[in-house]
Amino acid sequence: MNFDVIILGGGASGCMCAMTILKKSKIHVLMIDAGNKPAKKLMVTGNGRCNISNKKCVPSQEFYNQNIDRFLNKFTPDETISFFHDLGLECYADNENRFYPISNSAKSVVDVINNELEKYKNFTFLTDFIEKIDKKGDNFEIFTKSNHFNCKKLVVAMGGKIDSALINLDIDWIQSKESLVAIKTNSTHFLNGIRVSPAKISNLNGVAYEGEILFKESGVSGIAAFNLSACFARNKNFSGDIEIDLLPQYTDNYLFELLLNRKSLECSINKFFDGLLVPQLAYHIFNGCNIDENKSSRQLSNEEINEFVKKIKHLKLKVRSCYDNNQVISGGVNMKTLTENLESKKYRNLYFCGEICDVDGICGGYNLQWAWTSGHIVGAAI
Ligand SMILES: Cc1cc2nc3c(=O)[nH]c(=O)nc-3n(C[C@H](O)[C@H](O)[C@H](O)COP(=O)(O)OP(=O)(O)OC[C@H]3O[C@@H](n4cnc5c(N)ncnc54)[C@H](O)[C@@H]3O)c2cc1C
Repeated sequence: MNFDVIILGGGASGCMCAMTILKKSKIHVLMIDAGNKPAKKLMVTGNGRCNISNKKCVPSQEFYNQNIDRFLNKFTPDETISFFHDLGLECYADNENRFYPISNSAKSVVDVINNELEKYKNFTFLTDFIEKIDKKGDNFEIFTKSNHFNCKKLVVAMGGKIDSALINLDIDWIQSKESLVAIKTNSTHFLNGIRVSPAKISNLNGVAYEGEILFKESGVSGIAAFNLSACFARNKNFSGDIEIDLLPQYTDNYLFELLLNRKSLECSINKFFDGLLVPQLAYHIFNGCNIDENKSSRQLSNEEINEFVKKIKHLKLKVRSCYDNNQVISGGVNMKTLTENLESKKYRNLYFCGEICDVDGICGGYNLQWAWTSGHIVGAAI
């Protein structure tokens, strides 16, 4: 069967690409996805709320692995929100500039996308598994589990994992690695289950993120940890040291003075942190400092107070690897091999959009914004 355009993958970027083409043209578009309807994967995003974009995506190096300002300027977060408004989706931005649907439900996003796509008679959605892609003369051949299709223009929007279906094409890939993922470290079972917000987590190169962290049996999760994981993912290596500041609101000196003043609480040492830290954290700090439990707060020395400060503000952990609940993949099609319209420089009429490109952002709506921007750019170019 022949189609003008085939879009492989019906996730965020594939759907944006399809909607952009269909709004302006009568050409016949086939979308193939293993799922039973377009945009289904969005249901799990943003903890079911779908953090659809972020007001502030530029300068992009602050939020992504590379400078993608030239793309984001072609289809900005505001244009994205306006595009969705025209589909009937109302959004709001929270105090961290993150856009969410006003319903706080990812289903709203999935619904308006599906409502829009259903309007077009020249759009076909097929649930099938894509097995192989080939180039035959001017055309592309797509082999799925149960079918075989031809098209002149092919859009690959299959998400982050480098798919074996693409093996027959000569594509320059940047090695991929899980990103926005919980970091596995040496044992943290003594803190397992503790949530600290805000905490500051940093690597040895001084990259630091402040926000919520959640200790696991052997590692750290939470938005700040996810963001830091992007540094390890981009280096394709989850190893090295990280440091956690459990009270980033205070400087080392301020905390020292504060703890010094707490000696006047006249309490036994096991009550010294009451009112400042949750008991499990306090217990961990005492344990690490080897302080005689029978002491009273008055008897604490300056050296012991200093040890407390170190344990609270400079908790050191060794990175071992990452967990497998990653939100995105870092790596993908080398951006240098794509034109400004995200068309392959090697194969004319072959386009890439979304996470399959070597673009990855931190948490906050940046990855979906890339999916919308890149999908729109490709759709506009077709
Ligand atoms: C749990 C979770 C929460 C997230 N929350 C957010 C968030 O709140 N905000 C944010 O900005 N980002 C979030 N992200 C990241 C965001 O979802 C992705 O960056 C974005 O969906 C990428 O869009 P895409 O179109 O490139 O790929 P995808 O959305 O992954 O779509 C790819 C599609 O291709 C299909 N496909 C792949 N291979 C085949 C094949 N061989 N045959 C048939 N079909 C195939 C898949 O079924 C899928 O539907 C989250 C990710 C996860 C996992």
